[in-house]
Amino acid sequence: MSQTFSLHLILSKDEQNNEDDIRLLREAMQNKDACWVINADSCRISQQQHNGDALYALLFVPATIVDSVLLDVNNNRLLIYRESEKQTFSDRLLSLIHPFLACNFPLKAVLRHRNAPSDCVLLDLSHTPADTVLDLLEQCHTLHSGPELILQMLLIDRVECTTTPDIPHFDLPTCPVCLYRIDPPRLGWKLPSQEHLCSRFCPPPDFSNPFSGCPKQRFLAPWPRPSCCGACKIIQKHWKHLHHSNNTSHSIKDDNHVACMACNMQQTLWVCLTCAFVGCGRYSNKHAAQHFRDSSHPFCLELTTLRIWDYSYGEGGFAHRVDLLECPSSPPLWTPWIPVAASAAGMAGDEAYNNTSSSFHFENSNGKSAKKVTMMSEEYEALLQSALEEQAHHYEGEISRLRAELTTSMMSREAMSDMEQADIDQIIAANDALRASIEATKRSLLDLQSQEVPLREASNRLLREQQLAQELLAKIQDDNRREREALNVQVDELEQQVADLTTNQRMRERFIHDEELQNAQIFGAVDSEQKKRGKKTRRFFRK
Ligand SMILES: [Zn+2]
Ligand SMILES: [Zn+2]
Ligand SMILES: [Zn+2]
Ligand SMILES: [Zn+2]
Repeated sequence: MSQTFSLHLILSKDEQNNEDDIRLLREAMQNKDACWVINADSCRISQQQHNGDALYALLFVPATIVDSVLLDVNNNRLLIYRESEKQTFSDRLLSLIHPFLACNFPLKAVLRHRNAPSDCVLLDLSHTPADTVLDLLEQCHTLHSGPELILQMLLIDRVECTTTPDIPHFDLPTCPVCLYRIDPPRLGWKLPSQEHLCSRFCPPPDFSNPFSGCPKQRFLAPWPRPSCCGACKIIQKHWKHLHHSNNTSHSIKDDNHVACMACNMQQTLWVCLTCAFVGCGRYSNKHAAQHFRDSSHPFCLELTTLRIWDYSYGEGGFAHRVDLLECPSSPPLWTPWIPVAASAAGMAGDEAYNNTSSSFHFENSNGKSAKKVTMMSEEYEALLQSALEEQAHHYEGEISRLRAELTTSMMSREAMSDMEQADIDQIIAANDALRASIEATKRSLLDLQSQEVPLREASNRLLREQQLAQELLAKIQDDNRREREALNVQVDELEQQVADLTTNQRMRERFIHDEELQNAQIFGAVDSEQKKRGKKTRRFFRK
């Protein structure tokens, strides 16, 4: 079973009649006797996750062919042909594409979309096995000549028409030239037959027709206008610019530079084959890889070497047709933009390369030696490439060894961190316990503080009472002391009186016992003397 793809036609959201168009389209899809033409905003070919049954064959056709059959088609978003009308349209269109097609396949649809390098023609495969179509296409490559050539066919298992372009698959280029540059087996195609494979021994380029490319691969030249692919344009512009730079008689115009659309870098450039975004490579600012992450456009082509990288394939890898790189007609070896042929091909003046006829003759007359130089340089390139591949091999081994080491050290670090984790857990637990005890202490402190208030009040009251008591005590002691002093004075006086009385008594007794003195009249004199002395003594005590 061949690899199949799904096709998504995206209509702009803002137009009112889109929903009607989608409904009509679904009807026409079911109807075997109808075919349709649609102008879509964009047309996406997505790689499916699985291999389905092919329902349609998708052919890429120059827009000029469809324009010659359809009049005023751009004013209609959707045209539906039924029965006899369909037959007339189908016969006219298919016979223009290739005489074999008209009698062999029913036409299902023509898909046109803005900014597309080609129109797509859908053939109904319900009566014809896909292999028959593939065989027929092989013949087409051999028999057909000229620019209007069917390049490739993709097998389609699903056609969707929508206004919401959220499709999670990788979008392939819609340019047949760009598609054919990619490694065919990756798209589910056969390898080109031997007579279509290029090599370093391809015939030299045809200088009379610069857009012919290699005679074996004529159709790899960019398609003529209006069928023009953005990526093909960028590739052409880049090689035109390189030719300018190599030719010292021409000044380099800055606007001819192709540059990274994100950082304006002019080296290591890659162009997206799906949408013609130009980004810098992985050794610069990696904008090409960023574009893949943003858009899921899987194929990008390195402008200097024409090698193609496929992001969707495993971890990514080169996906170019190797033989094309070896062909002497490929842009790295031959720059075909010369004025005579450019005007012959109907190119606009600003697009044509403004070379002098003298340099054209020089190239032409020195064709043989130029070819020898080319072949020698190819030999060296091959040698260099094998050396580089050896180096790459060595460094890849080194990388895997280092990666293994890194993994081991990471694992030991993880083991270390287990112990550390246990420590950390312990510390955290201890911390929690401490925090809880702090909390408890804080609570009890608050309790105690609240208890302290009445106690402090009581203490203050007691202190005040104590002070009062002390004052009272001092007063009492003072009173006491004064009383005692007064008493002492009284006692002294009394003692004095006692002494006086005792003396008096003694005297009296002496008088009583002494009869001589019994009747003497001196009581008063002794009494007055005693009184004076007593008064004197009292005064002394008071001082
Ligand atoms: Zn292209
Ligand atoms: Zn070739
Ligand atoms: Zn960049
Ligand atoms: Zn893109």
